[in-house]
This record gives sequence, C-alpha cells and structure tokens, in this order.
Amino acid sequence: MLLAGKVAVVTGAASGIGKEIAKAYIAEGAKVVIADLDLAKSEATAAELGGKGKAFGVAMDVSSEQQVEAGMAKAIAEFGRIDILVSNAGIQTVSPIVDFPFDKWKQMLAIHLDGAFLTTRAVLRQMYKQGDGGSIIYMGSVHSKAASALKAPYVTAKHGLLGLARVVAKEGAAHKVRANVICPGFVRTPLVDKQIPEQAKEFGISEEDVVKKIMLKDTVDGEFTTVQDVAEAAVFFASFKSNALTGQSLIVSHGWAME
Ligand code: NAD
Repeated sequence: MLLAGKVAVVTGAASGIGKEIAKAYIAEGAKVVIADLDLAKSEATAAELGGKGKAFGVAMDVSSEQQVEAGMAKAIAEFGRIDILVSNAGIQTVSPIVDFPFDKWKQMLAIHLDGAFLTTRAVLRQMYKQGDGGSIIYMGSVHSKAASALKAPYVTAKHGLLGLARVVAKEGAAHKVRANVICPGFVRTPLVDKQIPEQAKEFGISEEDVVKKIMLKDTVDGEFTTVQDVAEAAVFFASFKSNALTGQSLIVSHGWAME
C-alpha cells in the first residue's frame, strides 16, 4: 500500500473528485479527514468510506480562517498528524464579465485562493513541526493553463494556484514538503452538471452541443475525464518520495490541453 500510516486532509471531499480521492487514499492505507461545508455530509461520507479509524468528517468552510484552524485542530486531535493536504474544495459560476456580480467574483477567489492559502498555512505549520515532510496537492484545472469564455474568476483563481504551489515548493523544500497541481479536464460531477444548462442558456445552444462542441471539443477522443483518473494522479503525487517532483502541474484531460 502506497500510503500506509499517512494522514490526509481532503477539502470538498463530500462530493465528486474529492470524495474519490479520499476513497483511493483509504484504499492505499491512509487515514483521511473529510473536510466539507456541512458536518452531517462530511460525517456521512466518512462513514461511507470506512468509518472510525479510517475516515473522519469535519465541517470546514475553507474560506473561513476560524473554520480552517478549528477543522485542522480536530483532524490532528483525531489522527495525531497530517502528511497530505488535497486542497480541492471549489465551485463554478458562469457569466460574461460584463454581467459578473462582484460578490460572485469575490466568493470564487475566496473559496479557491483564500481556501488554498488558509489550508496550506495550517498544514505547513503542522508538517514543519512533525519534521518528516509532506505532500500538498492543489486541484487546479485545464483552466489553470487555458481560458474559456464566461469563467473569468474561475480561470483567474485556477491560474493563481500554480503560483501558490511554486512558492510552497520553494519554501517547503528544506522541510521535505512538496507541492503540486492536478489540472483535470471536464469531469461529470455536480459542479459540471450544473454548468451544462447554464452554458446552453448563455450561448443559446442545446445541452448536447455544450458537451460536444464546448466541453469535449478539443479532447483527443470526445470523452470525459473520470473521478478515478484524477484520483490516480492524486495518489501518484501523494506517494512520490522525493523533492524531484515538486512545483509541477499535471494535466489529466484526454488531451484537451497539451503542454
Ligand atoms: P463537486 O461540486 O462535486 O464537489 C465540490 C465540493 O466542494 C462539494 O462537496 C462542496 O460542498 C465543497 N465546497 C464548496 N465550497 C466549499 C467551501 N467553501 N469549503 C469547503 N468545501 C466547499 O465538484 P468537483 O467537480 O468534484 O470539484 C472539485 C474540484 O475540482 C474543484 O476545485 C473544481 O474546480 C475542480 N475541477 C473540477 C473539474 C470538473 O470538471 N468537475 C475540472 C477541473 C477542476
């Protein structure tokens, strides 16, 4: 097992990509803290994925300094340490820039960027104290590298994560803490299911065309990336042994983006 004895905190782990990563980490022997907005949902997910001793649910709005600090303290009280952080919690809101409400812009940056910063800071303090390294993984997107219409704050935030990961790689190196970014293409989760009718309305096309002509248009085979594909990349980054792999980003997108 690649992650035996390790403790991971996965944010946004009550759904979609985060939940599958938590499942994959548990299968590799890790104990996982399911950190999501709603305590009952976090606890139900933890129970579903393995229950006591394997998974533990906490309530954590990643954009709240107080909730991040409190959630991490509970995680450490339960499992004694933190070796892996997957900063994954996220939302999507689509609109042309000219119509984008300022509060929605700020909410997006708060969840994706403040959330990544606050969870990173809390986890780094613990990892430095432990003294035996760690792995921090940010859930970027193809939108960390490329732009799409209607997604100004999302694209801005996802690009920003590359910068944060590179700084963490530099600062963390002396403590053997690595930082990397996974950049998935479109994955069928509630986050994407919500966008399909919204984009159809904005562009005045059918939902089928949103999938075929926008979402999967530039993939090599017209296929969605799966939560399992992304979880495999998350196991790879978490289990890598040295600073040889740090400050990097990996695109998992059926060839939508190649670089
Ligand atoms: P999802 O909607 O299935 O899950 C997101 C989870 O994040 C939910 O459980 C939600 O409750 C939680 N969350 C939202 N705001 C939060 C907050 N403030 N604090 C804590 N938790 C919060 O979505 P998903 O598709 O699994 O997305 C997970 C991540 O993957 C996001 O960062 C998203 O941007 C990224 N991503 C998704 C895709 C895709 O196509 N689905 C592609 C690239 C990147």
